[in-house]
Amino acid sequence: MIEEAKNLIKNSKYCVAFTGAGISVESGIPTFRGEGGIWLKENPQILDINYFKANPKVVWKKIIKNFYEPVKNALPNPAHFALAKLERAGLLKYIITQNIDNLHFKAGNKNIAEYHGNTRQLICMKCGKIKQVTEINFEKIPPLCDSCGGLLKPDFVFFGEPIPVDAAKISDEQAHKADVMLVIGTSGEIMPASVLPYFAKQAGAKIIEINTEKSKYTDEITDIFLQGKAGEILPQLVMS
Ligand code: NAD
Repeated sequence: MIEEAKNLIKNSKYCVAFTGAGISVESGIPTFRGEGGIWLKENPQILDINYFKANPKVVWKKIIKNFYEPVKNALPNPAHFALAKLERAGLLKYIITQNIDNLHFKAGNKNIAEYHGNTRQLICMKCGKIKQVTEINFEKIPPLCDSCGGLLKPDFVFFGEPIPVDAAKISDEQAHKADVMLVIGTSGEIMPASVLPYFAKQAGAKIIEINTEKSKYTDEITDIFLQGKAGEILPQLVMS
């Protein structure tokens, strides 16, 4: 099956990857719901946009502890590096990621749509100004905008917020353009991101799925299911 998947990638005209939390597990960042996941110790309401607006100080402290700190020193693993190699070789055209951990950037990929935003930037809820996380002094919580004094929010999607327009548009286009889609480390449970592999399949793409367990996609749309850890399987798909 590895050889079959390699051939599909080699002969593809437009291969796109769709990644989820599973690709970063081997970098030490747990999935939300799995073993060691954040929802075992925190209430998901901390990512509810209205709860954040009402309790910015409480939520910001939890965000720093649960999202910024684990991501700060995390490094890409062999799965991220394999995707970077495929892009450099011209065999991977785009990554659509649901992750907010910046690891595809750190691995060197250039063409990335961050469907749920990222942890590199903050956005002012009043004037929309973007700030880099490295510019923020987290000794004062919650952080406020230096232009208008508005509340700064992580530039990732909270429950109750829409998907950023640009990321949604690019992801939709890329999914429709793909003739091969690598679906990596995602359960397929998170709407609306989860529809993207279905769009690709409907547009004629072959679906190669890499996951430690079967997902919603496996029996419905997957053509080749490579069961195992992304960090072990993906390097095998890179042409030598
Ligand atoms: P998810 O829907 O992203 O599913 C995680 C999937 O990864 C599961 O199907 C699991 O079987 C699979 N998996 C686990 N370890 C793997 C490995 N080593 N190799 C391959 N597959 C593996 O799950 P979620 O955690 O509930 O995520 C909810 C949302 O939050 C998603 O949008 C997700 O991307 C995001 N999230 C992002 C990060 C991050 O930025 N690293 C971390 C947690 C959650």
